[in-house]
Amino acid sequence: MAQELPKTADVVIIGGGVMGASTAYHLARGGAGNVVLLEKEPFFGVMSTGQCAGGIRHQFSSEINIRLSLESIAMLERFPQEMDQDAGLRFIGYYFLLTHEDDVAEFRKNVALQHLLGVMTEWLEPDEIARRLPLVNVEGVLAATVYARDGLCDPASLVQGYVTNARRLGARLFTDTQAVGVRTASGRIQAVETNQGVIETPVVVNACGAWAPQIGHMVGVDIPIEPIRRQIVVTTPIPELPPDFPFVIFFRDSLYFHPEGEGILTGKSNPDETPGYKLSVDPEWEMLHMDEAMVRMPLLRKAGLLSHWAGLYEVTPDAHPILGRIPTVEGFYLMAGFSGHGLMHGPVVGLLMAEEVVDGRAHTVDIDPFRYDRFLTKELHPEYNVV
Ligand SMILES: Cc1cc2nc3c(=O)[nH]c(=O)nc-3n(C[C@H](O)[C@H](O)[C@H](O)COP(=O)(O)OP(=O)(O)OC[C@H]3O[C@@H](n4cnc5c(N)ncnc54)[C@H](O)[C@@H]3O)c2cc1C
Repeated sequence: MAQELPKTADVVIIGGGVMGASTAYHLARGGAGNVVLLEKEPFFGVMSTGQCAGGIRHQFSSEINIRLSLESIAMLERFPQEMDQDAGLRFIGYYFLLTHEDDVAEFRKNVALQHLLGVMTEWLEPDEIARRLPLVNVEGVLAATVYARDGLCDPASLVQGYVTNARRLGARLFTDTQAVGVRTASGRIQAVETNQGVIETPVVVNACGAWAPQIGHMVGVDIPIEPIRRQIVVTTPIPELPPDFPFVIFFRDSLYFHPEGEGILTGKSNPDETPGYKLSVDPEWEMLHMDEAMVRMPLLRKAGLLSHWAGLYEVTPDAHPILGRIPTVEGFYLMAGFSGHGLMHGPVVGLLMAEEVVDGRAHTVDIDPFRYDRFLTKELHPEYNVV
């Protein structure tokens, strides 16, 4: 039986992707009172979360991203016990193949930082790379990095686990419910207007991913996030593919491969893609992508197209998300702008947002480098390891 939208709530989360679902669970577990989540689509987790590649990694250039991965991937390991739901976690290893001297120099620094934080990424020379990746054409590869505790998880399982357990703990989660307005008075949140009715609330968490700027606009906050289309192709089964084939990315070309079912999932970021809510596949880009993919992974010539789609990255000027309370509107919180690597941080960021709302400040990881005010006052330090 369909639930009726409540008239009041202690917290309303707008957006039912991995971020909103994880936050609903952690708020309900943290005793935040009446927690409501609104998702405009007929299902949870079908936009960027459901359209993503499922990669998880510790290999970042920024300390805070490495710390988020350490916490989040440990949470993924505990997920089956905590949620009674498998997360599809597979530590298949994640290779960054470097074909440009500038990247080699940057990655040397990044690996040193990763080691300091306990992430023992391996540095590989060309002979060893060729030996480990016999199915990949590694011509021109100067060096590579790989960390054995990187790999894949399943986005749909993550969302399902959080939705089920948030509901079990008393949160109310609604699909087909779009936030169309947010009311404020004297600089404070008052209510959320939806296509199903109005909910009075003192707290709104904006977890709308690529659509987060639209919610910001409703309360007069300019959110610097651009929707950028990214495409994926999944092939039919490739019998020669070994079950332990890893995640492989040609970093400079933003071209990646990983096993998906009995075939391969491949993506390539178009550096000239323009901002917009574009969700249809660009056939010209797909042709270029697949030509390059077949050169780098010749086995793909034996495969057919199983499925393909486009999704949106939610890109900020420094490729870092924006997290935490927004000082100019009391009761307004933001968690968006993950710039292509949000799925893996969904578990910990949901916990951090619950801490921020319930305890007044996120504390499991210090999120100060990701606060909104960095765009107003600070020099930006972009993440280098962006796919
Ligand atoms: C092709 C591709 C590959 C990717 N690969 C990876 C990867 O390998 N690893 C990784 O970690 N990340 C990856 N990402 C990034 C990752 O998918 C995102 O960073 C992450 O899913 C963001 O989660 P979210 O919950 O913020 O956004 P979303 O999943 O987009 O959720 C936001 C939700 O808000 C809803 N919404 C919007 N407006 C409203 C409204 N007004 N009212 C109600 N609901 C609303 C939307 O319908 C949507 O469901 C990839 C992304 C893409 C597109």
